[in-house]
Amino acid sequence: SNKLLEVKDLEKVFHLGGRFFGSKLKAVNKVNFDLDAEKPEILTFAGETGSGKTTVARMILGLETPTSGEVIYKGRNVTHIKKRKELLEYMKEVQPIFQNPFETFNPLKKVDSYLFEMAENYEIAKTKEEKQKGVEESLNSVGLTLKEIKGRYPNELSGGQLQRVSVARALVTRPSLLIADEPVSMVDASLRMSIVNLFAELKTKYNVSVLYITHDLATAYYISDRIAIMLRGDVVEFGDIDKVMLSPLHPYTQILLESVPQPDPEGTWKEDIKLSSLEVKEFSRLGCKFYERCPFAMKICKDVEPPYVFKDGREVKCHLYSEEIKNTEKSEETVN
Ligand code: SF4
Repeated sequence: SNKLLEVKDLEKVFHLGGRFFGSKLKAVNKVNFDLDAEKPEILTFAGETGSGKTTVARMILGLETPTSGEVIYKGRNVTHIKKRKELLEYMKEVQPIFQNPFETFNPLKKVDSYLFEMAENYEIAKTKEEKQKGVEESLNSVGLTLKEIKGRYPNELSGGQLQRVSVARALVTRPSLLIADEPVSMVDASLRMSIVNLFAELKTKYNVSVLYITHDLATAYYISDRIAIMLRGDVVEFGDIDKVMLSPLHPYTQILLESVPQPDPEGTWKEDIKLSSLEVKEFSRLGCKFYERCPFAMKICKDVEPPYVFKDGREVKCHLYSEEIKNTEKSEETVN
C-alpha cells in the first residue's frame, strides 16, 4: 500500500502541576489513521478545546513529543527527528497553517518577504527569477498576485487576505500535506467559507492533502472526506464524512450534531478550559470518556474502555455496538 502518512497508536500524557500535582492526563489516547499517497483527501479532526485534536496535529508536526506511538511519512519514521536537515526535508512536505494570521506575521515586516524567505530557507529555487516565479505561483493558487501584496504590511491586509498569504507561504515548498489548526476561527464569518473552499481547491488542483483541525462542524462537513470526532483524548467516531455527520452512531457525536448548526467560536465550546478535579478524574478513568453525560450509559461503560467497532463505514468507540455485551448488559437498564 502506498501511504502518505501513517499515525500509529499515537499517545500524549501530560504530567500536571499545581493543585493536580502528581496527576497524569492522557491528552491523546492511541490515535490511529492513514492518509493515502495516491488519493489526496481532507481529513478533519473535530472536538472541543481539550479534546486532544491540536495535540495530535502538533505531534505530527514535531512541535510536541509523543509519549508513545509513531508517525510515518512516506514510509519514513519521523516521530523523533532531531537533525535539522531531516527536519527541513520533512517540513518541506508537511506545512502548518496556524490559527491567527495576525500572530503569524510580524507587524513590522512586509508580508511578501515571508514567501521569499520560505523559498530561500528551503532552497526551492536557485535563481532570483525562479524564486520570484515560485512565489507568484503560490500566491496565484490562493487567488492573490504578487503585485497585490508586494511591499505591504500585515495591517494593510484584511484577515481573510492575510490568511490566504499564510496558505500561500505554506505552498511555496510544494507540500503534499497541510496541517491547518483552526485556520478560519479568527477570520470574519463572511470570509470563512472562501478560505475553507481554498483547501478543497488545493486538494483537487494540486493534490494537496489537508488535516483540518477544527471545532466547527459546519465548515468540516462542507470540505471533508473523512472526519474523526475527538473527546477527551479519544477518537470516538471516525470515518466517511457523510456517514458520521448524517447518521452518527456514537452518542457524543449525536449530541454534538443536535447542537451544532451555528459555526460559532465564541459559543459553547470555550477556548480556555480550566480543568476541574472532576475532569481530571474523568480523563484518567479507563472507561468511556462520555460516561458522565451519556444518556445510554451502562454499568460496563464506567470502567471498561470501549473497543472500536467497525460499523456502517466508520469506526465507533462505544459499548453499545460491541458484540460481546449485546445480550447481557444492553438489556439492563441504563445508569444515567
Ligand atoms: Fe455511552 Fe457507554 Fe457508549 Fe460511552 S460506551 S458512549 S457511556 S453507551
